[in-house]
Amino acid sequence: MILKTEGVILRVLPYSRTSLLADCLTRDAGRIWLLAKGAQRPKSQFLGQLDLFYTCEVLFYQRASRVLILKEAAALTTREALRTDWRAAACASYFCDFTAQVTPPGVPHEDLFALLEAALDTLAQRGASPGLLCWYELAALKMLGFGVSLARCPLCGQDPAPGALRLKVSSRQGGVLCRRCQDRNPGDATFDITAGTLALLRAWDAEISPQTAANTVPSPAQLAEMQAVLTGFTAYHLDLQLRSRDLALTLIRTPVAR
Ligand SMILES: [Zn+2]
Repeated sequence: MILKTEGVILRVLPYSRTSLLADCLTRDAGRIWLLAKGAQRPKSQFLGQLDLFYTCEVLFYQRASRVLILKEAAALTTREALRTDWRAAACASYFCDFTAQVTPPGVPHEDLFALLEAALDTLAQRGASPGLLCWYELAALKMLGFGVSLARCPLCGQDPAPGALRLKVSSRQGGVLCRRCQDRNPGDATFDITAGTLALLRAWDAEISPQTAANTVPSPAQLAEMQAVLTGFTAYHLDLQLRSRDLALTLIRTPVAR
């Protein structure tokens, strides 16, 4: 059966002397490997239509195989800024790497597809920012069923932060612990955050669009707290410690040369 759908290109690898293999997260068929035969030839129909971070319309034969033959591809969104803005490109590489790690082949996940498109669009329009990276991770964790419980203590369901200035977040328990549950579970590995950091996390967690997070500049201390929580959650629940994330964070922090 021939299927036509949209897909974001997560990785592109050379295959033989003339062809390319593209790891593609499609809207309807999940993540698939597409073989673009002859894509490296000068007059290939795929020239300019298929590249990293593009959203393309792809047409392929659907069958039980690890690699599917791509018949046609047309670039829909090319996100040209990601070819020249190296901070944004590093961040885009991390988002694509993360997506490739958490999506098993052939399983449709429309929410993660929409999340990746929104994050890449914002990167191309506004550049990289620590807020955007945090927003993406919060949203991805939620879509994968491991959202950080920020409004309710995951153990007793109470508001964990009435009047508290400092709080503890447990990746094992899945969120911000109230004082009573903290005392009952003293052995849990936890992260300390301030009430200000919790307020930011709650605001971003509630946003469907990345615009607010991309516009906010947290203090270095707040950023360190948020990143510790998100590192802890992705490592504990998704077993992910990606080099691409470290690289993106390092580049975002590097001052721009003038
Ligand atoms: Zn509690």
